[in-house]
Amino acid sequence: MAAASLTVSSVSSPAPGLRDSYGRLIHDLRVSITDRCNYKCVYCRTGEMGAQYPELAIDEYLRLIKLFVSLGITKVRLTGGEPLLRRGIVDLVREIARLRTCGGATLDIALTTNGHLLDGLAGPLKAAGLNRVTVSMDAVDAAVFERITRVEGSFAAVLAGVRAARAAGLTPLKINCVLLRGFNDDQIEGFARFAREENVVVRFIEFMPLEEGRLWSPEIVVPLREIVERIGRVLPLVELPARDASETARRYTFSDGLGEIGIIAPVTQAFCGACSRVRLTSDGKIRTCLFSQIEHDLYGRMRAGESDDELRAYIISTVQSKEARHHIGEPGFLKPSRSMVHIGG
Ligand code: SF4
Repeated sequence: MAAASLTVSSVSSPAPGLRDSYGRLIHDLRVSITDRCNYKCVYCRTGEMGAQYPELAIDEYLRLIKLFVSLGITKVRLTGGEPLLRRGIVDLVREIARLRTCGGATLDIALTTNGHLLDGLAGPLKAAGLNRVTVSMDAVDAAVFERITRVEGSFAAVLAGVRAARAAGLTPLKINCVLLRGFNDDQIEGFARFAREENVVVRFIEFMPLEEGRLWSPEIVVPLREIVERIGRVLPLVELPARDASETARRYTFSDGLGEIGIIAPVTQAFCGACSRVRLTSDGKIRTCLFSQIEHDLYGRMRAGESDDELRAYIISTVQSKEARHHIGEPGFLKPSRSMVHIGG
Protein backbone atom coordinates (compact mmCIF):
# COMPACT_ATOMS: atom_id res chain seq x y z
CA MET A 1 0.00 0.00 0.00
CA ALA A 2 2.74 2.45 0.90
CA ALA A 3 3.86 4.93 -1.80
CA ALA A 4 7.35 4.64 -3.31
CA SER A 5 9.78 5.62 -0.51
CA LEU A 6 10.89 9.19 -0.99
CA THR A 7 14.25 10.56 0.17
CA VAL A 8 14.90 14.21 0.99
CA SER A 9 16.63 15.61 -2.11
CA SER A 10 20.06 16.91 -1.32
CA VAL A 11 20.75 18.48 -4.70
CA SER A 12 22.88 21.61 -4.20
CA SER A 13 21.18 23.75 -6.84
CA PRO A 14 17.54 22.69 -6.89
CA ALA A 15 15.86 22.84 -10.31
CA PRO A 16 13.55 25.82 -10.94
CA GLY A 17 9.93 25.80 -9.84
CA LEU A 18 8.19 25.21 -6.52
CA ARG A 19 9.62 21.99 -5.04
CA ASP A 20 9.27 20.11 -1.77
CA SER A 21 12.14 18.58 0.17
CA TYR A 22 11.79 15.37 -1.88
CA GLY A 23 12.35 17.22 -5.10
CA ARG A 24 8.72 16.88 -6.24
CA LEU A 25 7.66 19.75 -8.52
CA ILE A 26 4.52 21.36 -7.13
CA HIS A 27 2.56 22.88 -10.01
CA ASP A 28 -1.05 22.20 -9.05
CA LEU A 29 -2.91 24.48 -6.61
CA ARG A 30 -6.40 23.62 -5.36
CA VAL A 31 -8.26 26.56 -3.88
CA SER A 32 -11.42 26.12 -1.83
CA ILE A 33 -13.50 29.28 -1.99
CA THR A 34 -16.20 28.10 0.43
CA ASP A 35 -16.96 25.15 2.69
CA ARG A 36 -20.69 25.72 2.27
CA CYS A 37 -22.50 23.09 0.19
CA ASN A 38 -26.04 22.70 -1.13
CA TYR A 39 -25.81 18.91 -0.90
CA LYS A 40 -25.57 16.63 2.15
CA CYS A 41 -23.92 13.57 0.64
CA VAL A 42 -24.24 10.66 3.05
CA TYR A 43 -20.55 9.67 2.87
CA CYS A 44 -19.19 13.20 3.20
CA ARG A 45 -21.38 15.28 5.45
CA THR A 46 -22.20 12.49 7.83
CA GLY A 47 -22.54 14.95 10.69
CA GLU A 48 -24.69 18.06 11.16
CA MET A 49 -21.71 20.41 11.03
CA GLY A 50 -22.59 22.65 8.09
CA ALA A 51 -20.08 25.32 7.05
CA GLN A 52 -17.33 25.80 9.63
CA TYR A 53 -14.81 28.25 8.18
CA PRO A 54 -14.88 31.89 7.06
CA GLU A 55 -14.48 32.77 3.38
CA LEU A 56 -12.06 35.36 2.02
CA ALA A 57 -13.13 38.10 -0.34
CA ILE A 58 -12.77 37.15 -4.00
CA ASP A 59 -9.92 39.63 -4.52
CA GLU A 60 -8.07 38.20 -1.53
CA TYR A 61 -8.08 34.74 -3.16
CA LEU A 62 -6.84 36.40 -6.33
CA ARG A 63 -3.87 38.00 -4.58
CA LEU A 64 -2.88 34.65 -3.05
CA ILE A 65 -3.34 32.77 -6.34
CA LYS A 66 -1.16 35.35 -8.12
CA LEU A 67 1.63 34.65 -5.62
CA PHE A 68 1.48 30.90 -6.26
CA VAL A 69 1.40 31.41 -10.05
CA SER A 70 4.43 33.68 -9.81
CA LEU A 71 6.24 30.79 -8.09
CA GLY A 72 5.50 28.30 -10.87
CA ILE A 73 1.97 26.98 -10.31
CA THR A 74 0.55 26.11 -13.76
CA LYS A 75 -2.78 24.59 -12.77
CA VAL A 76 -5.39 26.23 -10.52
CA ARG A 77 -8.47 24.23 -9.55
CA LEU A 78 -11.35 25.98 -7.78
CA THR A 79 -13.16 23.76 -5.30
CA GLY A 80 -15.32 23.87 -2.15
CA GLY A 81 -17.75 22.83 -0.43
CA GLU A 82 -19.64 23.89 -3.54
CA PRO A 83 -17.74 26.71 -5.34
CA LEU A 84 -20.69 27.73 -7.55
CA LEU A 85 -22.44 28.98 -4.42
CA ARG A 86 -19.89 31.84 -4.32
CA ARG A 87 -21.11 35.03 -5.95
CA GLY A 88 -18.23 36.51 -7.98
CA ILE A 89 -16.86 33.13 -9.12
CA VAL A 90 -17.15 34.15 -12.80
CA ASP A 91 -15.19 37.35 -12.04
CA LEU A 92 -12.59 35.33 -10.13
CA VAL A 93 -12.10 33.00 -13.12
CA ARG A 94 -11.79 36.04 -15.43
CA GLU A 95 -9.13 37.61 -13.20
CA ILE A 96 -7.19 34.34 -12.89
CA ALA A 97 -7.35 33.98 -16.69
CA ARG A 98 -5.78 37.46 -17.01
CA LEU A 99 -2.63 35.96 -15.45
CA ARG A 100 -2.09 34.18 -18.76
CA THR A 101 -1.08 37.52 -20.26
CA CYS A 102 1.60 38.18 -17.67
CA GLY A 103 3.83 35.11 -17.67
CA GLY A 104 1.13 32.49 -16.86
CA ALA A 105 0.55 31.69 -20.51
CA THR A 106 -0.16 28.00 -20.01
CA LEU A 107 -2.20 28.46 -16.88
CA ASP A 108 -4.82 25.71 -16.77
CA ILE A 109 -7.96 26.74 -14.85
CA ALA A 110 -10.32 23.98 -13.72
CA LEU A 111 -13.29 23.67 -11.39
CA THR A 112 -14.74 20.85 -9.29
CA THR A 113 -18.48 21.15 -8.63
CA ASN A 114 -21.47 19.02 -7.71
CA GLY A 115 -23.05 20.38 -10.90
CA HIS A 116 -26.35 21.52 -9.35
CA LEU A 117 -25.87 25.16 -10.50
CA LEU A 118 -23.75 24.40 -13.57
CA ASP A 119 -26.51 24.57 -16.19
CA GLY A 120 -26.81 28.35 -15.86
CA LEU A 121 -23.09 29.07 -15.28
CA ALA A 122 -21.26 26.83 -17.78
CA GLY A 123 -21.41 29.41 -20.59
CA PRO A 124 -20.30 32.44 -18.52
CA LEU A 125 -17.48 30.43 -16.88
CA LYS A 126 -16.17 29.27 -20.25
CA ALA A 127 -16.33 32.82 -21.61
CA ALA A 128 -14.45 34.05 -18.53
CA GLY A 129 -11.57 31.65 -19.28
CA LEU A 130 -12.33 28.41 -17.47
CA ASN A 131 -10.77 25.45 -19.34
CA ARG A 132 -12.56 22.48 -17.92
CA VAL A 133 -14.82 21.13 -15.22
CA THR A 134 -15.09 18.04 -13.07
CA VAL A 135 -18.54 17.12 -11.78
CA SER A 136 -18.91 15.00 -8.63
CA MET A 137 -21.69 12.53 -9.40
CA ASP A 138 -22.07 9.29 -7.43
CA ALA A 139 -24.85 7.49 -9.30
CA VAL A 140 -26.51 7.29 -12.73
CA ASP A 141 -29.77 6.09 -11.19
CA ALA A 142 -31.84 9.08 -10.05
CA ALA A 143 -33.20 7.35 -6.93
CA VAL A 144 -29.75 6.19 -5.79
CA PHE A 145 -28.33 9.64 -6.58
CA GLU A 146 -30.90 11.48 -4.50
CA ARG A 147 -30.58 8.97 -1.67
CA ILE A 148 -26.87 9.91 -1.56
CA THR A 149 -27.19 13.71 -1.96
CA ARG A 150 -30.34 13.92 0.17
CA VAL A 151 -31.64 16.62 -2.21
CA GLU A 152 -34.81 16.11 -4.24
CA GLY A 153 -34.55 16.89 -7.97
CA SER A 154 -30.76 16.91 -7.78
CA PHE A 155 -30.23 14.23 -10.45
CA ALA A 156 -32.02 16.14 -13.21
CA ALA A 157 -30.20 19.35 -12.25
CA VAL A 158 -26.77 17.69 -12.42
CA LEU A 159 -27.49 15.94 -15.71
CA ALA A 160 -28.52 19.29 -17.20
CA GLY A 161 -25.31 20.81 -15.80
CA VAL A 162 -23.14 18.08 -17.34
CA ARG A 163 -24.75 18.57 -20.75
CA ALA A 164 -24.47 22.36 -20.51
CA ALA A 165 -20.75 22.09 -19.64
CA ARG A 166 -20.15 19.78 -22.59
CA ALA A 167 -22.07 22.11 -24.91
CA ALA A 168 -20.02 25.08 -23.61
CA GLY A 169 -16.77 23.24 -24.44
CA LEU A 170 -15.59 22.80 -20.83
CA THR A 171 -13.75 19.65 -21.84
CA PRO A 172 -12.39 17.09 -21.22
CA LEU A 173 -15.46 16.83 -19.01
CA LYS A 174 -14.75 14.53 -16.07
CA ILE A 175 -17.24 12.88 -13.74
CA ASN A 176 -15.92 11.86 -10.30
CA CYS A 177 -17.75 9.03 -8.56
CA VAL A 178 -16.74 8.07 -5.01
CA LEU A 179 -17.51 4.37 -4.62
CA LEU A 180 -18.70 2.86 -1.36
CA ARG A 181 -19.50 -0.84 -1.05
CA GLY A 182 -23.17 -1.33 -0.31
CA PHE A 183 -24.00 2.32 -1.20
CA ASN A 184 -23.41 2.81 -4.88
CA ASP A 185 -21.10 0.06 -6.11
CA ASP A 186 -24.12 -1.21 -8.10
CA GLN A 187 -23.61 1.88 -10.30
CA ILE A 188 -20.24 0.79 -11.74
CA GLU A 189 -21.50 -0.86 -14.92
CA GLY A 190 -24.12 1.87 -15.50
CA PHE A 191 -21.41 4.53 -15.24
CA ALA A 192 -19.28 2.69 -17.83
CA ARG A 193 -22.19 2.96 -20.26
CA PHE A 194 -22.79 6.58 -19.22
CA ALA A 195 -19.18 7.46 -20.10
CA ARG A 196 -19.74 6.19 -23.63
CA GLU A 197 -23.23 7.59 -24.15
CA GLU A 198 -22.51 11.06 -22.72
CA ASN A 199 -18.92 11.25 -24.04
CA VAL A 200 -17.52 12.11 -20.62
CA VAL A 201 -14.58 10.65 -18.70
CA VAL A 202 -15.94 8.83 -15.65
CA ARG A 203 -13.43 8.46 -12.83
CA PHE A 204 -14.10 6.11 -9.96
CA ILE A 205 -12.49 7.12 -6.65
CA GLU A 206 -11.65 4.74 -3.82
CA PHE A 207 -13.32 6.04 -0.66
CA MET A 208 -10.83 7.79 1.62
CA PRO A 209 -11.19 8.42 5.38
CA LEU A 210 -12.09 12.09 4.91
CA GLU A 211 -15.73 12.10 5.98
CA GLU A 212 -17.16 14.12 8.89
CA GLY A 213 -18.20 11.09 10.93
CA ARG A 214 -16.75 7.57 11.30
CA LEU A 215 -18.05 5.78 8.24
CA TRP A 216 -14.75 4.73 6.66
CA SER A 217 -13.40 1.21 6.98
CA PRO A 218 -11.22 -0.88 4.59
CA GLU A 219 -14.20 -3.17 3.91
CA ILE A 220 -16.26 -0.29 2.46
CA VAL A 221 -13.55 0.54 -0.11
CA VAL A 222 -14.11 -0.87 -3.62
CA PRO A 223 -10.53 -1.40 -4.85
CA LEU A 224 -9.25 -0.59 -8.35
CA ARG A 225 -8.72 -4.26 -9.17
CA GLU A 226 -12.40 -5.07 -8.52
CA ILE A 227 -13.67 -2.08 -10.54
CA VAL A 228 -11.58 -3.14 -13.56
CA GLU A 229 -12.82 -6.75 -13.25
CA ARG A 230 -16.48 -5.76 -12.97
CA ILE A 231 -16.43 -3.40 -15.97
CA GLY A 232 -14.28 -5.83 -17.95
CA ARG A 233 -17.02 -8.45 -17.65
CA VAL A 234 -19.45 -6.23 -19.58
CA LEU A 235 -17.18 -3.95 -21.63
CA PRO A 236 -13.56 -5.11 -21.99
CA LEU A 237 -11.04 -2.45 -20.94
CA VAL A 238 -7.63 -1.49 -22.31
CA GLU A 239 -5.28 0.47 -20.04
CA LEU A 240 -3.97 3.76 -21.48
CA PRO A 241 -0.53 5.22 -20.78
CA ALA A 242 -0.31 8.00 -18.18
CA ARG A 243 0.00 11.47 -19.70
CA ASP A 244 1.91 12.86 -16.74
CA ALA A 245 3.73 11.26 -13.79
CA SER A 246 1.62 13.26 -11.33
CA GLU A 247 -1.68 12.17 -12.86
CA THR A 248 -3.87 10.73 -10.10
CA ALA A 249 -6.09 8.49 -12.26
CA ARG A 250 -5.19 5.22 -14.00
CA ARG A 251 -6.78 5.58 -17.43
CA TYR A 252 -8.64 3.00 -19.50
CA THR A 253 -10.54 2.92 -22.76
CA PHE A 254 -12.90 0.21 -23.96
CA SER A 255 -11.76 -2.47 -26.39
CA ASP A 256 -13.68 -0.75 -29.23
CA GLY A 257 -11.90 2.52 -28.44
CA LEU A 258 -15.13 4.38 -27.59
CA GLY A 259 -15.07 6.25 -24.29
CA GLU A 260 -12.69 6.55 -21.37
CA ILE A 261 -12.79 5.84 -17.68
CA GLY A 262 -10.28 6.50 -14.91
CA ILE A 263 -9.71 5.03 -11.49
CA ILE A 264 -8.20 7.07 -8.65
CA ALA A 265 -6.92 4.54 -6.11
CA PRO A 266 -5.31 6.40 -3.20
CA VAL A 267 -6.03 3.53 -0.78
CA THR A 268 -4.87 0.45 -2.69
CA GLN A 269 -2.44 2.03 -5.19
CA ALA A 270 -1.25 5.31 -3.67
CA PHE A 271 0.36 7.86 -5.98
CA CYS A 272 2.03 10.15 -3.43
CA GLY A 273 5.49 9.59 -4.94
CA ALA A 274 4.75 11.98 -7.79
CA CYS A 275 2.33 14.28 -5.95
CA SER A 276 2.32 17.80 -7.44
CA ARG A 277 -0.46 19.32 -5.31
CA VAL A 278 -0.92 21.77 -2.49
CA ARG A 279 -4.20 23.22 -1.27
CA LEU A 280 -5.49 26.54 -0.02
CA THR A 281 -8.50 26.29 2.28
CA SER A 282 -11.49 28.65 2.14
CA ASP A 283 -10.06 30.57 5.11
CA GLY A 284 -6.62 30.96 3.51
CA LYS A 285 -4.59 28.16 5.12
CA ILE A 286 -2.07 26.13 3.12
CA ARG A 287 -2.46 22.35 3.39
CA THR A 288 0.55 20.61 1.88
CA CYS A 289 -1.25 17.26 1.83
CA LEU A 290 -4.87 16.16 1.88
CA PHE A 291 -4.07 14.27 5.09
CA SER A 292 -2.05 17.04 6.77
CA GLN A 293 -2.30 17.34 10.53
CA ILE A 294 -1.04 20.92 10.48
CA GLU A 295 -1.99 24.00 8.45
CA HIS A 296 -0.06 27.11 7.53
CA ASP A 297 -1.84 30.45 7.93
CA LEU A 298 -0.94 32.32 4.74
CA TYR A 299 -3.99 34.59 4.94
CA GLY A 300 -3.18 35.56 8.51
CA ARG A 301 0.22 36.80 7.35
CA MET A 302 -1.38 38.70 4.49
CA ARG A 303 -3.80 40.33 6.93
CA ALA A 304 -0.86 41.18 9.19
CA GLY A 305 0.54 43.24 6.33
CA GLU A 306 3.32 41.00 4.99
CA SER A 307 4.60 42.01 1.55
CA ASP A 308 4.26 39.82 -1.52
CA ASP A 309 7.92 38.86 -1.25
CA GLU A 310 7.54 37.84 2.41
CA LEU A 311 4.43 35.82 1.53
CA ARG A 312 6.27 34.11 -1.35
CA ALA A 313 9.11 33.18 0.98
CA TYR A 314 6.55 31.71 3.37
CA ILE A 315 4.95 29.67 0.57
CA ILE A 316 8.35 28.33 -0.53
CA SER A 317 9.35 27.25 2.99
CA THR A 318 5.89 25.77 3.62
CA VAL A 319 6.03 23.66 0.45
CA GLN A 320 9.46 22.43 1.54
CA SER A 321 7.72 20.88 4.58
CA LYS A 322 5.27 18.87 2.45
CA GLU A 323 4.57 15.36 3.79
CA ALA A 324 6.04 12.41 1.88
CA ARG A 325 2.76 10.50 1.68
CA HIS A 326 -0.45 9.44 3.43
CA HIS A 327 -0.57 6.53 5.88
CA ILE A 328 -4.11 5.26 5.32
CA GLY A 329 -4.65 1.82 6.85
CA GLU A 330 -1.31 1.87 8.71
CA PRO A 331 -0.97 1.64 12.47
CA GLY A 332 -1.11 5.12 13.93
CA PHE A 333 -2.92 6.61 10.94
CA LEU A 334 -4.63 9.84 11.96
CA LYS A 335 -7.59 11.27 10.08
CA PRO A 336 -6.80 14.76 8.76
CA SER A 337 -7.57 17.76 10.93
CA ARG A 338 -10.51 18.66 8.66
CA SER A 339 -12.99 16.59 6.67
CA MET A 340 -13.11 16.80 2.88
CA VAL A 341 -15.98 19.29 2.60
CA HIS A 342 -13.89 21.72 4.70
CA ILE A 343 -10.67 21.10 2.73
CA GLY A 344 -11.74 21.08 -0.93
CA GLY A 345 -11.27 18.34 -3.60
S1 SF4 B 1 -2.20 11.92 0.09
FE1 SF4 B 1 -1.00 13.80 0.18
S2 SF4 B 1 0.97 13.29 -0.74
FE2 SF4 B 1 -0.44 11.66 -1.28
S3 SF4 B 1 -1.23 12.25 -3.28
FE3 SF4 B 1 -2.67 13.06 -1.76
S4 SF4 B 1 -1.99 15.14 -1.30
FE4 SF4 B 1 -0.31 14.07 -2.36
